[in-house]
Amino acid sequence: MKNSIISYPRIGANRELKFGVEKYFKNQSSKEELLQIAKNLRTKHWQEIQNFGIDFIPSNDFSFYDNVLDAAVLFNIIHTKYKNLNLEPLDEYFAQSRGYQGKNGDTTALAMKKWFNTNYHYLVPECDDANAIALVGDKIFKEYLEAKELGIETKPVLIGIFTLFKLINFKDEKTKELAKEKLLKAYEELLTKLNTLKVQWLQFDEPYLVYDLDQNDLALFDQLYTKLLNHKQNLKILLQTYFGDVRDIYPKLLQTQFDGLGLDFIEGKESLKLIEKYGFAKDKILFAGIINGKNIYANDYTKSLKLIKELQKHTKNIVLNTSCSLLHVPYSTEFEKQLNPSYLKIFSFAKEKLKELKELKEILNTNEENPLLKTNQELFQNIPQRTDEKVKARLQTLKKEDFIRQPEFKKRILIQKEFLQLPLLPTTTIGSFPQSADVRSNRLAFKQEKISATSYTEFNQQKIKECIAIQEEIGLDVLVHGEFERNDMVEYFGENLKGFLFTQNGWVQSYGTRCVKPPVIWGDVSRIKPITLAWAKFAQSLSKKIVKGMLTGPVTILNWSFPREDISLKESAQQIALALRDEVLDLENAGIKIIQIDEAALREKLPLRKSDWHSQYLDWAIPAFNLVHSGVKTETQIHTHMCYSEFNDILKEIDAMDADVISFEASRSNLSLLDTLKAIHFQTEVGPGVYDIHSPRVPSVEELSITIKQILNKLPKKQIWINPDCGLKTRSYEEVIAALKNLVIATQKIRESL
Ligand code: GLN
Ligand code: ZN
Repeated sequence: MKNSIISYPRIGANRELKFGVEKYFKNQSSKEELLQIAKNLRTKHWQEIQNFGIDFIPSNDFSFYDNVLDAAVLFNIIHTKYKNLNLEPLDEYFAQSRGYQGKNGDTTALAMKKWFNTNYHYLVPECDDANAIALVGDKIFKEYLEAKELGIETKPVLIGIFTLFKLINFKDEKTKELAKEKLLKAYEELLTKLNTLKVQWLQFDEPYLVYDLDQNDLALFDQLYTKLLNHKQNLKILLQTYFGDVRDIYPKLLQTQFDGLGLDFIEGKESLKLIEKYGFAKDKILFAGIINGKNIYANDYTKSLKLIKELQKHTKNIVLNTSCSLLHVPYSTEFEKQLNPSYLKIFSFAKEKLKELKELKEILNTNEENPLLKTNQELFQNIPQRTDEKVKARLQTLKKEDFIRQPEFKKRILIQKEFLQLPLLPTTTIGSFPQSADVRSNRLAFKQEKISATSYTEFNQQKIKECIAIQEEIGLDVLVHGEFERNDMVEYFGENLKGFLFTQNGWVQSYGTRCVKPPVIWGDVSRIKPITLAWAKFAQSLSKKIVKGMLTGPVTILNWSFPREDISLKESAQQIALALRDEVLDLENAGIKIIQIDEAALREKLPLRKSDWHSQYLDWAIPAFNLVHSGVKTETQIHTHMCYSEFNDILKEIDAMDADVISFEASRSNLSLLDTLKAIHFQTEVGPGVYDIHSPRVPSVEELSITIKQILNKLPKKQIWINPDCGLKTRSYEEVIAALKNLVIATQKIRESL
């Protein structure tokens, strides 16, 4: 029995890659220094994986920003607007990642989208010139050779042609048709080149196969791979799927020329059934994804061995594998010095998962009396308590009415307009202001008990004062306090709720250089004391204008935490919702007139298959949100915010959240959602983000005016709010002030003309 992993985290044990890239962005280091950091990380990771005796070691899973962008660049799928900047390759790459503003021009970044059902974001390749598509890059070859020089044979990893093709944004149908041909040629060339290098195994990641596939998809897959696999020569190719099962295409896959088939037995609910029904192929190896690549709990070997036994009834050719890339879990538990060992013993991050693969292999290759099995069984005994009877009892009392806000939107919005007295096109921001170094060091010093609570608070109050003053000076209509007390929109709430655990170094890449540190939901959740109340009250006391209260919603808190596996997600969501409900009512009581409840991650855990959307998710997620705000007065306005705009397909559910105003990311995806909103007579007021905060470039008044006018063309003016597309915490004050000033000027001008 052999073992394998799909991909390894690249950010580094201490986020070396993040800091290296950011330094380069700030012109504080050279390209050579950055390349060296990258090389060191790759070396370290390969050696580590090898030391755990993993047989299939990935390469080309490294990326400076994003693997989808890497694949696009490999095949020269680079929009002309970036080529026209005439930058050298690395800078052209970063221009696509984060936009460019400098002496060579001014261009926005590629759109960013959630990577399937994860909190990782990829860059959406844009193809305006199919003729340009060709194998031009060499990263995949270079990294293979780099490992080879270390004496390590790797399995290069690349997004498969089908998934890549599905994810590219093509200029038009003609471009798309031509691109198909060209891309196929380029992949064929890639196989030839890999053969020349004597590469043994190549892994094509095809997660798109776990979606619901229609006849066109199946035909496309067939068309692409029948041709492509004719060029594989001596190269062995693993078709790797993850995040679900491949029920729509499984029987067909058995007929293909792939040498390995990677299936997910964690999220792939039907994977085992498919094998039982259709068998497996004699000419293929089954890469069995049994180590959960998404959660942080230790693998239960007894369960895994049972599954493997089942699989062995159908094939002897099995390689133990992770269920998906380990990119989605933190690097290692060895940096956790504060967590009680009684918890830590059942945690397993990326590096520990290597060990699990090693041990499972060993058990399978020796016999099941192996002491490793017993040690594993003992891990799950005597773990700390998770149940809180009070929380359980409160959930029992919930009634249907608790989930419904009264009166209905149509009635209350009129009352709110009267009460709030805001101008047309009210301007606002999404909540956070720059998390400058002083803000972070103040928080850190407090956490490390180097400063008193009073001086911590006074510092933040000073920051809030400045933040309010800046917003008043700029002329925004609805203000925010700036969120200086928050390290992260989820961790902060977790820290103030009972039931959560925290890691010190559990960073997971969210996009590019951005990492998040998801809390762990360990026990039943409840609120012990008010969380945001004092900050909100203080901020409101400084201004005559309305300052929004700012909370993170239950679904987002749940989705951005590592969830429990012993109770349902629904139950966890309700527990969190009740805790937040108390906070909302406290804010309202304190005179906060607008309360924003962010559901940045609502869409994130939407099941990939439509048939599961309601029963597995929306049927509990939306009510959890309702539970948070249904108790407020008519005149209290509830806002929500989402970090994307792809919700054409869940608009009914978004409407059912019954917020009064919703802001979302629209700037990167060209406002296309607005057409749908118009078509379905969406009533909730909307704040489509008018510029992209993920990029450092400052939008001009002119550019913003065009965007605002486009919005006005699509929706009634009474329904529109003007805001950036997300919180401003990752930007500098310089960028933020300039951008917001332009936003207000553009809005005011247009307002006058209405
Ligand atoms: N209120 C949060 C902020 O402004 C929202 C962040 C988010 O949606 N990711 O930072
Ligand atoms: Zn956002």
